[in-house]
Amino acid sequence: MGTSNDRRTFIVSNRLPVRVHHERGRVEVVRSSGGLASALRSATSIQEWIGWSGGPVPQAMRARVRELLTAQGLMPVFLTAEEERHYYVNMCNGTLWPLLHYFPGRVEFDDRSWPAYCEVNRRFADTVLERTVAGDRVWIHDFHLFLLPQLLREARPELEIGFFLHVPFPSSEIWRIVPQREELLRGLLGADYLSFHTADYLRHFRDSCLRVLGLGANPDSIQSEGRRVALGVDPLGPDVATFQAVLDTEAVAGQMAQFAQRWGDRRLLLSVERLDYTKGILHKLRSFARLLELEPERCQDTVMLQVLVPSREENESYRSLRREIEREVGRINGTYGSPGRMPLEFLHRSIDTSELAALYRYASACLVTPLRDGMNLVAHEFVLCQGHDAAAQDAARGVLVLSEFAGAALSLTRSLPVNPWDITAVARAMATALQMPEPERKDRMAEMYEQVLQLDSAGWTTRFLRRLDRAAEHNLQNQVAPLNRAQRRELGERWRSARRRWLFLDYDGTLREITQRPENAAPTAALITLLRALSQQANTQVHLVSGRPRGVLGVWFGHLPIHLCAEHGFVHRAPGGQWVQPVEVDLSWVPEVDAILQRAVDEVPGAFLERKRCGLAWHYRLADAGYGPWRAQELRQHLDQLLMDRPAATLSGHAVLEVRAKGFDKGSYVAGILPQIGSDDFVFCAGDDRTDVDMYRRMPEGAFVTNVGGPSPEAAHVLATPTNLRDLLQTLLDTGTVQGN
Ligand code: UDP
Repeated sequence: MGTSNDRRTFIVSNRLPVRVHHERGRVEVVRSSGGLASALRSATSIQEWIGWSGGPVPQAMRARVRELLTAQGLMPVFLTAEEERHYYVNMCNGTLWPLLHYFPGRVEFDDRSWPAYCEVNRRFADTVLERTVAGDRVWIHDFHLFLLPQLLREARPELEIGFFLHVPFPSSEIWRIVPQREELLRGLLGADYLSFHTADYLRHFRDSCLRVLGLGANPDSIQSEGRRVALGVDPLGPDVATFQAVLDTEAVAGQMAQFAQRWGDRRLLLSVERLDYTKGILHKLRSFARLLELEPERCQDTVMLQVLVPSREENESYRSLRREIEREVGRINGTYGSPGRMPLEFLHRSIDTSELAALYRYASACLVTPLRDGMNLVAHEFVLCQGHDAAAQDAARGVLVLSEFAGAALSLTRSLPVNPWDITAVARAMATALQMPEPERKDRMAEMYEQVLQLDSAGWTTRFLRRLDRAAEHNLQNQVAPLNRAQRRELGERWRSARRRWLFLDYDGTLREITQRPENAAPTAALITLLRALSQQANTQVHLVSGRPRGVLGVWFGHLPIHLCAEHGFVHRAPGGQWVQPVEVDLSWVPEVDAILQRAVDEVPGAFLERKRCGLAWHYRLADAGYGPWRAQELRQHLDQLLMDRPAATLSGHAVLEVRAKGFDKGSYVAGILPQIGSDDFVFCAGDDRTDVDMYRRMPEGAFVTNVGGPSPEAAHVLATPTNLRDLLQTLLDTGTVQGN
């Protein structure tokens, strides 16, 4: 595994950091600055940046644009005007953006947007695959490309794939609104490392994987299709170098002198943001009006400047928000202004870095009050400019009023936190900021300045890539490689030439996908056909080794010429025979345990109890995905203590806690058959959970043991899904048998 610097890194984001102008056959490329572009500037390992060049580029000009861009290390992905509308405007900005920012009321669904989103993600995948080789690093950015990690993983499993989400990830309650919630999550899970601005977003993502996909997780990883997807938090801060470079310039000093002339002794409340409904602009304006109402003298000694950077003007809802803001500004100035003294100034345009830095430095307070924001760089930049050159006597010491719904609230802990929905509370926070004594302002700003320096975007890149490397390395080392063609051939050869063949197969989660209710996991006709065909091979025994009750196995498989083992090894039957069960079993503990589990059924909605001959199973698959496992863990501890000296044991399976008579497990069943197995026989064993490990441990030497769904320390092989196992068994059948046929 290489270090951060000797591995080629490919950046993939929706937009390239450029604007392409073309007019009458002439093409011009202008670099644009932006948070991500400046964050990545210092990363020396970057080979190429892949992304949309923005706007439709006519076919005839594409070659020229590509040539100009590749010379700068940029690789364009072209979109048609139609794709731009359905993928970018509708799916990304119309559906995903409001959803991720907790605005379900603004979510728009359009039938054509999902196919376009899939198509564009595939186009990105094709471009990445053209440019990369196995072992390269691919770092994907943001919600436009949720499907890309998995598309790449499938096509080139040896890529190192990282993903950073620049926006919030909402609670699973919101996430599940999007009809493609499962596909989008699975798309992301193709990555080795997924990272977020805050621990809250990480938690929401993990919780959505649990509740939407049923995937169990550790605090910092998710196990998916045999791979570990590491989760991390890497807050992205401002571009420190850019601001530091302009702060000491004449331009900034000149701007500040102009501001002093313009506003005289009035103090400046500053707001800077893109025009977006997530920013809570109307709420903030109303809070300012409330301040003027509560403290009328502020009309004279304070001015608020609202800078709104134009954004997404192709979208009618953004245009109408702009009109509403303009009306609100007019109302406030109409009510509280006087000739020559308008309390609210409004600027609807972009401003350059030196003007912005001067404003940040000049302002008495910065009002950052989004209703929801992934991080918010403006808050960081304000602190950066205020805290710069802290030793100077006349250094400005403003106050940051910061929404608790911005990711930045977690890193800027000495701001004045506000709930932006609470109009009066925000007005009071503005008043507090204006009245705050200087020592306190200095103290708060000094501490936040240190916090901001820690988040410098240059360090962010290094941190992310280091964590990505570590995650990918873990996957590489722990990879129990899916069977390659040579191994499959060898397995087929062993199957074909063996004198006798033994298959020990678990059912749920192994041969058949887990379903919400156990009764829904009945075998499909194709699976029955497969099992029948296997068992009809000469000198071949199929043993279905399950935790299911004998009745269910009898109904589903009793008509097949296969061996059935039910209730985790407690009872078994030969093809067409009677169930055989041990004669002497001490079940005296059952009533007591039954009462405990029954009480837990009453207390946990969705849980249910299954009574078997040798014990009890408390199922919680239908219970709340957080509460069920928590109660199961608590129950297990309690029962383990209770049963310490009794002939019973607990066992945790997939969303089930079992208590059963000691001395019987899937391993004891296998042990009973071992004497019949010859050293040259073909033995194949597959399972998926803890109960199958007992079986793996008893397998004779040379047996082919595979775990479905993820690696198991006791199994030499891994298959991602039951489909993979069925396919593998079908391959064996297709190979045929030599002897005994
Ligand atoms: N900004 C800008 N043009 C301007 C004013 C500000 O590009 O005229 C920058 C600002 O410096 C900040 C970014 O826009 O870096 C806004 O980032 P933030 O995280 O606050 O919000 P976003 O727009 O990403 O939602």
